[in-house]
Amino acid sequence: MFNYPLDNLLPVDSNGYYGRFGGAYVPEVLKENIRSLDEAFRKYVKDPEFQKEFNRLLHDYVGRPTPLFFAEGLSKRYGARIYLKREDLNHTGAHKINNAIGQALLAKRMGKTRLIAETGAGQHGVATATVAALLGMKCTVYMGAEDVSRQAPNVMRMKMLGAEVVSVNAGNATLSNAVDEALKAWCEDPDETFYLIGSAVGPHPYPEIVSRFQSVISYEIKKQLEQLEGRNYPDYVIACIGGGSNASGAFYHFLDDKRVRLVAVEAGGKGVESGETAASISIGKPMVLHGSKTMVLVDEEGSVVNAYSVSSGLDYPGIGPLQAYLAETGRTEVKVADDGQALEAALLLSRTEGIIPALESSHALAALEMIDFKPDDVVVVNLSGRGDKDMSTYMSTVCRLSD
Ligand SMILES: *Cc1c(COP(=O)(O)O)cnc(C)c1O
Repeated sequence: MFNYPLDNLLPVDSNGYYGRFGGAYVPEVLKENIRSLDEAFRKYVKDPEFQKEFNRLLHDYVGRPTPLFFAEGLSKRYGARIYLKREDLNHTGAHKINNAIGQALLAKRMGKTRLIAETGAGQHGVATATVAALLGMKCTVYMGAEDVSRQAPNVMRMKMLGAEVVSVNAGNATLSNAVDEALKAWCEDPDETFYLIGSAVGPHPYPEIVSRFQSVISYEIKKQLEQLEGRNYPDYVIACIGGGSNASGAFYHFLDDKRVRLVAVEAGGKGVESGETAASISIGKPMVLHGSKTMVLVDEEGSVVNAYSVSSGLDYPGIGPLQAYLAETGRTEVKVADDGQALEAALLLSRTEGIIPALESSHALAALEMIDFKPDDVVVVNLSGRGDKDMSTYMSTVCRLSD
């Protein structure tokens, strides 16, 4: 069992800014909530009892540490030493549960009785419904109507776990609209309700909270590489970016280690210039979205536009402020993988390693094609989730192409 340090190693100031990004832009009714969340987080994250429970649940319930798997087939193909960080093997099938457990334990200690959450692909909704069941809390999940139909298996899981799933029809009926609804619900009942945000987005301190709970990923990578390679850092860490939580967790303990090249992969959708994309870093503009200043996809008039990606976990028009800052300062190298490249990468991993990845994670895998590695390079790809939820998309695309 690991004792995760959960220290703050983030380039964030006391007002929640990462360079020019971040902050806490919330309506008046929520200011007090944000303040008490901040206070509770800083108190409990250092509390030995809290840490003990967090460590125990990650070990006994989630199944951590997740393996760092040497992928022989991929290594041969790309000419480097390629490892997969197997977040897909977590209970509920993705990295989201790490953060859901941390925030739910916090909610419980703050005396809240109900968890609300937004979800895109449904992974965060499932993670939140799971911890709500575990800890005996009520749970409501907001999900875009488009995603409700694309991600039927996850909707059924949430219902089975006892959560109420609210289908949101506004806008393009995907993740961004679900966040709006969840924020509205929080404003209506700020005393009993804890808003469990699923990615490193939203008003400060959420991006910090989520990144610190997800930091368990890179903490383990360090320890595992020590064993496997005799050095506790890789040459590359590659992660996909929706809001930035799995990337923040996978990069966390390497942020200040310049020997490690951090590669963030955005979803290009049908192409960055196509108008149907989710590449908020590449073509976004700085503005306030969902409580923080960050890079956002906007039209000529400056209104937020709908993001598109074949992957419902990545079609968000913004990105967390930490990732916006890391990209702007050049600490991360930003790559774009479009739908086709991600689908190809999913098929390749399935046929080469016998692992069906989530469509989100397939974007990170697609970046392996874009980098010139040296044979001794140690490369870690964060395999953020498993592909069960994406099977109908895979059946109607890649398998049709390959058979
Ligand atoms: C939600 C999700 C993502 C995208 O969210 P981040 O906050 O950017 O990590 C990536 N992979 C999987 C499997 C997901 O469920």
